[in-house]
Amino acid sequence: MPDIKPERVLSDLRTLATFGAYKTGVHRPTLSEQDVAAREWFVGRMREAGLDAAIDGIANILGKSPAAGRKALAGSHLESQNHAGWLDGPLGCVYALEAARAIAEDAATRHLGVDVAVFCDEEGHFGSFLGSRSFIGLLEEGEIDAASNRATGTSMRDALKAAGWSGRRRLVIDPTRYAAFFEAHIEQGDTLESAGLKIGVVTAIVAIWQYRLTAEGEQNHAGTTSMVRRRDAGLELVRLLGAIDARFPAICGPRTVWTTGRIELDPGEKSIIPGKAEALFQLRDADPAVLDRLDAEIHALVQHANSVGRCRLAVERLSASTPALMDQGLQAALDRAAESRAPGKHMRMPSGAGHDAQWLARKLPSAMMFVPSIGGISHHWTENTSDEDIVLGAQVFTDAIVNALAG
Ligand SMILES: [Zn+2]
Repeated sequence: MPDIKPERVLSDLRTLATFGAYKTGVHRPTLSEQDVAAREWFVGRMREAGLDAAIDGIANILGKSPAAGRKALAGSHLESQNHAGWLDGPLGCVYALEAARAIAEDAATRHLGVDVAVFCDEEGHFGSFLGSRSFIGLLEEGEIDAASNRATGTSMRDALKAAGWSGRRRLVIDPTRYAAFFEAHIEQGDTLESAGLKIGVVTAIVAIWQYRLTAEGEQNHAGTTSMVRRRDAGLELVRLLGAIDARFPAICGPRTVWTTGRIELDPGEKSIIPGKAEALFQLRDADPAVLDRLDAEIHALVQHANSVGRCRLAVERLSASTPALMDQGLQAALDRAAESRAPGKHMRMPSGAGHDAQWLARKLPSAMMFVPSIGGISHHWTENTSDEDIVLGAQVFTDAIVNALAG
């Protein structure tokens, strides 16, 4: 197996962390000055590695290997969440680049090719997976026209123009060029760390089902309306959320998660009984059967609440994605690589977060690998992974790509 160069991996990651450095993390929103500079720098590193690299019309980067034959595609994203960590995204980009370099430097594997991809705006400053969706041919020009930065309001077109990339052709995947897509990422949770493990082999990227729950009661005076008479929409909605939370553990899957991300009371004043209430509620799981079961339970609990309570409750499903399954053969390639470099220290697990790989999986057999996040922290500037774990992950990632390409 080709040996990765630990110092090169760590120094590339540390250099990327200087673009938009914030405390021990980074603040590098999509197409900010720092993000543009980071992309330019990364293209330079790709070219030094012998890749034919270019930035396209939506700020995706593709570095093409000169090797003949079917190649692996590997990569992730470079922009960060606001005031967030240095590894979320860059880790997968640098691992991909290191795999391309190490495989090309080893006489035994030089014939195998790795193309490196950086997908723009995975973190959603302008839209939803604009870069990876563009790359698989699922993004219309009109969606780019309409996209603007959620924080600053700057349009994506203007941001691309300022970077000097507007009007460039958008690159679209040629699936016949590739045998597989690989993405590495920090876990962003504490499953690996808590279990004392080093490598997570992702089985599937979870589906997200989003709901709006509403309650309608009667707006009235908080002092003069007796408890017997009042119809408090806020209270009934919170009772429903409590009932869901009490019931789900008995029927959910081992890794199901559910979240009430927002509750709004109308009118939301301290001396007024809310006449209306609304909550945004979300489910995540990798198993469609579990999601169906929980969906049915939400509806049953709403019906029950309507039969016993004094408010009218309703549920509306706003969206329901499908889980993205990772390729079985590629999971086995990752297992083998992990077992040889970190015997007994790896596990299979679903990804509770969305990643570019969920879109690439529509075009190529795809795989994802996780390394531990210290304290399970991510989307925060304290996000970190030990140097030792970063280096081990880079080697396992490279070995797995060789396993997959060499068969
Ligand atoms: Zn990420």
